Amino acid sequence: MDGISMAGLTGELRKDEPMSRHTSWRTGGTVRWHYTPDGVSDLGEFLRRVPQETEVSWCGLGSNMLVRDGGFDGVIISTHKGLKKLRQTGSRSIYAEAGVPGAKLAKFAAKNALCGTEFMVGIPGTIGGALAMNAGCFGSETWQVVHHADTISRQGETVRRSADQVSWGYRSVEIEDSEWFVGAEFELSPCQTDDGRKKIRQFLKQRAATQPVQTANAGSVFRNPKEDFAARLIETAGLKGYTNGAARVSPVHANFIENTGHASANDIESLIAYIKNRVHEVHGIQLELEVRIIGKGASL
Ligand SMILES: Cc1cc2nc3c(=O)[nH]c(=O)nc-3n(C[C@H](O)[C@H](O)[C@H](O)COP(=O)(O)OP(=O)(O)OC[C@H]3O[C@@H](n4cnc5c(N)ncnc54)[C@H](O)[C@@H]3O)c2cc1C
Repeated sequence: MDGISMAGLTGELRKDEPMSRHTSWRTGGTVRWHYTPDGVSDLGEFLRRVPQETEVSWCGLGSNMLVRDGGFDGVIISTHKGLKKLRQTGSRSIYAEAGVPGAKLAKFAAKNALCGTEFMVGIPGTIGGALAMNAGCFGSETWQVVHHADTISRQGETVRRSADQVSWGYRSVEIEDSEWFVGAEFELSPCQTDDGRKKIRQFLKQRAATQPVQTANAGSVFRNPKEDFAARLIETAGLKGYTNGAARVSPVHANFIENTGHASANDIESLIAYIKNRVHEVHGIQLELEVRIIGKGASL
């Protein structure tokens, strides 16, 4: 990296990495520096060496983010292949590092006769993403089963936060701007492995029946407004199947936007803006974004 030494660091640093390779929308600009750490202490050392003025962002499996076509002029820490330890830590507890896929945790827990994370099986992100977003479905949310989480600061220092020190709600978690998750311990309930696995199969079946799981999308684009559903509002505004370039409001689930071919990030973001306007015109409701958008527009 310009101006910093990589001596002794064992993670992988890439320059001008296309984020289309790392996001489930399969589009978006490049990131100036993309770092896959080789464990937490390597990450800490890397962060200490990155100049303080450089912007840092994080990516798990990129299943809830859009990187604008003009790219991100900073560092993205990519956890998926770098923070991947997963182990049982007690008779009711499992520790997962931030890059472990939620589905892997759910299956590991069921195999070890522990229940509480089955809902994560169909959420195609990492534990870090689930902690940052308080990901959830089918009546369960990530932070309901967290005992404590470990975070890292911009200066590379790790801190342990018990779940009651963190304030969370529907798809929201309050944490310092420059503090990110490196792992968490989950407190689970003893169960029969077969029961856990049965629930996992049910959740996957339910999801396949209601969501466009085979397409390039980022899940729900908007948060559900209180006592309503963004999908219902979008559908009744007449937008199911509506397209902008190769970006399309999913004909299966109106709160999903699919990249049907070579949609640019701008096609997707313009479609998001159009949906927001139409829903406001038709229903008088301001939809709020669930997906996270970073970077600069292509023309900036
Ligand atoms: C088909 C499909 C279905 C989905 N279904 C659901 C669902 O049922 N429920 C649900 O809640 N979501 C759902 N999602 C959205 C998404 O999978 C979740 O939000 C998931 O938790 C994101 O994890 P990720 O690793 O992909 O995060 P990313 O998309 O990589 O990142 C999301 C945000 O979290 C931040 N982040 C990532 N890792 C860390 C970290 N270690 N520390 C701090 N911040 C971090 C990123 O900077 C970004 O702002 C779905 C997505 C798809 C594509």
